[in-house]
Amino acid sequence: MIHSQKMKYVLVTGGVVSGLGKGVTASSIGLILKASGLRVTSIKIDPYLNTDAGTMSPFEHGEVFVLDDGGEADLDLGNYERFLDIKLTRDNNITTGKIYQSVIDKERKGDYLGQTVQVVPHITDAIQEWIEHAAAIPVDGKEGPADICVIELGGTIGDIESMPFIEALGQFSYRVGPGNFCLIHVSLVPVLAAVGEQKTKPTQHSVRGLRSLGLSPNILACRSTMFILQELDGNVKEKLSRFCHVPIENIITLCDVSNIWRVPLLLRDQNAHEAILKVLNLTGYIREPVLGEWTSRADLCDLLSEPVRIAMVGKYTGLADSYLSVLKALLHASVECHRKLCVDWVPATDLEDATAEENPNSHRSAWKLLEGADAILVPGGFGDRGIEGKILAAKYAREKRIPYLGICLGMQIAVIEFARSILGLQNANSTEFDSNTKSPCVILMPEGSKTQMGGTMRLGSRRTYLHGTSSKSAKLYDHRSFIDERHRHRYEVNPDMVPQLEDAGLSFPGKDESGHRMEIVELPNHPYFVGVQFHPEFKSRPGKPSALFLGLVAAACGQLDALLKKGSTKARKTSSASSTTKSQLYEKATKLVSSVYCNGNGLHV
Ligand code: GLN
Repeated sequence: MIHSQKMKYVLVTGGVVSGLGKGVTASSIGLILKASGLRVTSIKIDPYLNTDAGTMSPFEHGEVFVLDDGGEADLDLGNYERFLDIKLTRDNNITTGKIYQSVIDKERKGDYLGQTVQVVPHITDAIQEWIEHAAAIPVDGKEGPADICVIELGGTIGDIESMPFIEALGQFSYRVGPGNFCLIHVSLVPVLAAVGEQKTKPTQHSVRGLRSLGLSPNILACRSTMFILQELDGNVKEKLSRFCHVPIENIITLCDVSNIWRVPLLLRDQNAHEAILKVLNLTGYIREPVLGEWTSRADLCDLLSEPVRIAMVGKYTGLADSYLSVLKALLHASVECHRKLCVDWVPATDLEDATAEENPNSHRSAWKLLEGADAILVPGGFGDRGIEGKILAAKYAREKRIPYLGICLGMQIAVIEFARSILGLQNANSTEFDSNTKSPCVILMPEGSKTQMGGTMRLGSRRTYLHGTSSKSAKLYDHRSFIDERHRHRYEVNPDMVPQLEDAGLSFPGKDESGHRMEIVELPNHPYFVGVQFHPEFKSRPGKPSALFLGLVAAACGQLDALLKKGSTKARKTSSASSTTKSQLYEKATKLVSSVYCNGNGLHV
């Protein structure tokens, strides 16, 4: 039984091709509505059969985003969390797998006794119930449900696998009724290079597809890279309006912008918030969205020119989506330090000795990148490819006193390297890579499973207790007694080897509540050498960079001492020294206004 509700829904669908930036558009829509004074939540629908993204390859699907409750979700949930500063739950990511599993479980229990269980109505009802349930979960720290739920339907209209969702959403829009449902269709208007003409036919077809499935768009958001500094032609809008039955003022141009923080501003400039609020009968909320800080940050980001070079030593190099949250966290920290982020991708395998023989050029250029970096980051990862290269990167950072941040696997790597180099345990390893190692300094956690892969890791928000006051992490975390960060791992530092490692100079300033699980490792006599078993990147926000990323970038550009002296994050925010430089930059930025579309700073993060 689906209960009645008063929530308003904004559905974002995609047409013509994938990769139009539907997720960023949907997050930006959420942001301008939030900036108009509404409470916003979001749901991402992924029409694949996987239960969740946990077992999917970051190579094909981008990073697995981890939520507080341990949900392993599509990376778009990260965009929503960062743009809207909310904390979503696993139920905010709906997949075909989850829906079918819930219906099949009910069938087995006997809930449908006597009935033939079918896509319509059983699957479609389950989808609608799930949407209403997930939309009602408070995600912004306040009590009670939000005012508006932005639902993003993954894939492109016409995909076979999204059909049950389209049918369910058609029924849903009818049921919640006009004034409670707004459909925004993100589509492509290609430009024929030869004649420079904007073509509407693909969008017409895609809207026709939508309409034949019972959904009519209220707003069209048209994407094309050829719209640089230019609106859709008036007659093109007229044509789209006539064929797609969408008022001209509800047709929005999504041109390329210099950084993604500009997308909400682009929507606001075209009064997208007004169009949406009118469709939702919320005209009382129509006002200029409050986006001052957001605008300043977007302007500042474009103005930064002094680079900070971070070497990312990983497996999926060059694939920004595979490490999306790490890149975002680096960006948040770089903007805070007034530096332009330059990420140098270093393929871990290329650092290895074996590559020197097989492919000397790659080996040379990988080492050149590493040597030119202001800081080194080894992100999380699974499997043994490139492990020895990562160990060499950690060794280089330790010996040459280059700032280092190791995340999850990057922390385990740092411990293995230390055990090999300083304790002289040449075979030290993780049992993930060498199950028979004589010096297992990283081992499978007692609760871990290697046979049941889905959802069996130590996942989600767990508490780390900070010990002592002298560590850089304690200082960066404002001397809080504990922190809650998100986890995703099966292995941990072997607690039996901790005393040995400590005696040799490694310190463990952060542990779990038992005191036996190492959460943070640091080298005290190093400019910045920090490893964390958790993933601080998932909670970094624009304007509120994650503490340890800020520490890394500050160390990389010689600002760490000043940052640590300033002490707490709150003090830093109000410190006059940093606000003077910032306000000068902001002043310059406002003068430049936002005419900087498409200047391309090489960053798509
Ligand atoms: N493979 C390691 C583990 O399972 C590290 C995981 C990670 O980096 N997320 O513990």
